[in-house]
Amino acid sequence: MTEPAKAKVEMEKLVSLCRRRGFIFPSSEIYGGLSSCWDYGPLGVELKRNIKDAWWRAMVQQRDDMVGLDSSILMHPRTWEASGHVQGFSDPLVECKSCHLRWRSDELESDKCPECGGELTEPRLFNLMFKTFMGPVEDDTSVVYLRPETAQGMFVNFENILNTTRKRLPFGIAQVGKSFRNEVTTGNFIFRSREFEQMEIEFFVRPGTDQKWFDYWVEERINWYEGLGIKRENLKLRPHEKEELAHYARACSDINYLFPMGWAELEGIANRGDFDLVQHASSSGKGLSYYDEEAKEHIVPYIIEPSAGVDRTFLALLCDAYDEDEAEGEKRVLLHLHPDLAPIKAAVLPLSRKEHLASFAREIYADLRKRWMVGYDDAQSIGRRYRRQDEIGTPFCVTVDFESLEDKQVTIRERDSLRQIRVPIDSLKATLQAKLGGEDLFVLPDGGKIWKK
Ligand code: ATP
Repeated sequence: MTEPAKAKVEMEKLVSLCRRRGFIFPSSEIYGGLSSCWDYGPLGVELKRNIKDAWWRAMVQQRDDMVGLDSSILMHPRTWEASGHVQGFSDPLVECKSCHLRWRSDELESDKCPECGGELTEPRLFNLMFKTFMGPVEDDTSVVYLRPETAQGMFVNFENILNTTRKRLPFGIAQVGKSFRNEVTTGNFIFRSREFEQMEIEFFVRPGTDQKWFDYWVEERINWYEGLGIKRENLKLRPHEKEELAHYARACSDINYLFPMGWAELEGIANRGDFDLVQHASSSGKGLSYYDEEAKEHIVPYIIEPSAGVDRTFLALLCDAYDEDEAEGEKRVLLHLHPDLAPIKAAVLPLSRKEHLASFAREIYADLRKRWMVGYDDAQSIGRRYRRQDEIGTPFCVTVDFESLEDKQVTIRERDSLRQIRVPIDSLKATLQAKLGGEDLFVLPDGGKIWKK
C-alpha cells in the first residue's frame, strides 16, 4: 500500500513563524482571543494584499471578458431567501451529553463524542448565517445577515453590469471581499474561520456551452496556483459525487491542497446552471435575462463559479514556500515566496552603522521604496540579517559596504540560490525590476555591465 501523502511542514511551525514575525495574530489577543478570528499583522497584510492583487491582475485586469464589483456586505434580506440560504445554509449539529462540546455530525466517524467518548444528541440543523439588526428597532422586520459568500452581490447586479458595460456572453463578474459564517467546527489556524475573505467569479455563459467553460475554469484556476509557485503534486482535483452537490449546483469540483492536516478544499468550482438568475428574477419580479442578438431571443445564462478563499490561499502558499536548509554555514528557515507575493521585495543592509555609510544606504533605501515595499535593517551581524529576511521570504538583500562609497556599486544577494552579484547603483532599480519579474540577470564584476542569460 502506498503511504498517504503528507505535507512537508507541521501546522505548529507555521503558526509559530506567523506569530513571531508578525504575519498573523489571534484576534483581540489581550482579552484571550476570539475563537476562529485572526488579525493579519504588518507582514501578513502585505502578503494578503499581494495575493488579492495577483488574483485581480490575472482574473480582471488581463482579461477582456471580466469586470469587477465591490458590493456591500449587508444585502436585502430577501436575497438570502431567494438564494436558499435562510432555508438551507446549515450544518447538522450534535452535542455531547457529557462534555457538551458540539460537532458537525457529517464530519464524525462514529456516533460517540471524539473528545470524551460520550453519547451525542440527535442532529439538529444549525444555520451558518450571522444575524443582526438594521436600524434602531430590534425585531423580525429589521433582521439582516452578514453575507456568507460574495456571490449574491454579483447575481443581483447582473442587470446593472449588463446595462453599463455592454458586455456580451460569455463574460464574468469578479469580486473580492469579506464573508462570514458561524461555523460549527473551526480550527486548523486560518483554514476555517468565522470571518474570512473570498475571491469569487460568476462567469455567465450560453446554456449548452457550460460544460466547456466549467472545464476551462478548472484548468485556468489550477494554472493560477501553479503560476504563483504552488507545486502541482500538492494540488488535487476532487469532483463532487451527485449526492453531495449543493442544491444549486449541476456539477462541482474542488481544488484540494495538501495542507498539514491532509487534503482539503482550497477552492470550489461550480456549474450553477440558471438557478441564481431564475430565483432572483422570480423573487424580485425583475426579468434577469440576456437578449441574444444571434438567436433573437431572451435567454437566461448559465453560471460557472470559481470561488477561492484568500485565507486558505495564504495558508497553502506558506505551506508550499516553507523550507529549512543550510546557508553560509548555518541552518536557516526560509520562505520561497514568489516575488509577486513576497511582503518585502528587497532589504537594504548597510555593513556598518557608521554615519557616512548609513546615510549613503538610507538614500538607496529611500529611492527603492518609491517603487516597492523595501526593508532596512542595520541590527546585528550580516548573517543574522540575511536569516531574518530569508524567514519572511524577501527575495533580495542589497548589501552596502565601504567599497560602495568608492565604486558606487552594491551587492545583491538572492534568497534561493544564495548567489551574489555586484551591480552599479545606477542600475540597481532596473536589475531588481527585471529579477522581480523573473528574468535571470547577472553582472560582470568588472565594468558592471548587466548581462542577460
Ligand atoms: P468547506 O467545505 O471547507 O466548509 P465550502 O465548500 O463550504 O468549504 P464554499 O462555500 O465553496 O466553501 O466557499 C468557497 C471558498 O471560500 C472555499 O473553497 C474556501 O477557500 C473559502 N471558505 C469557505 N468557508 C471558509 C471558512 N470558514 N474559512 C476560510 N475560508 C473559507
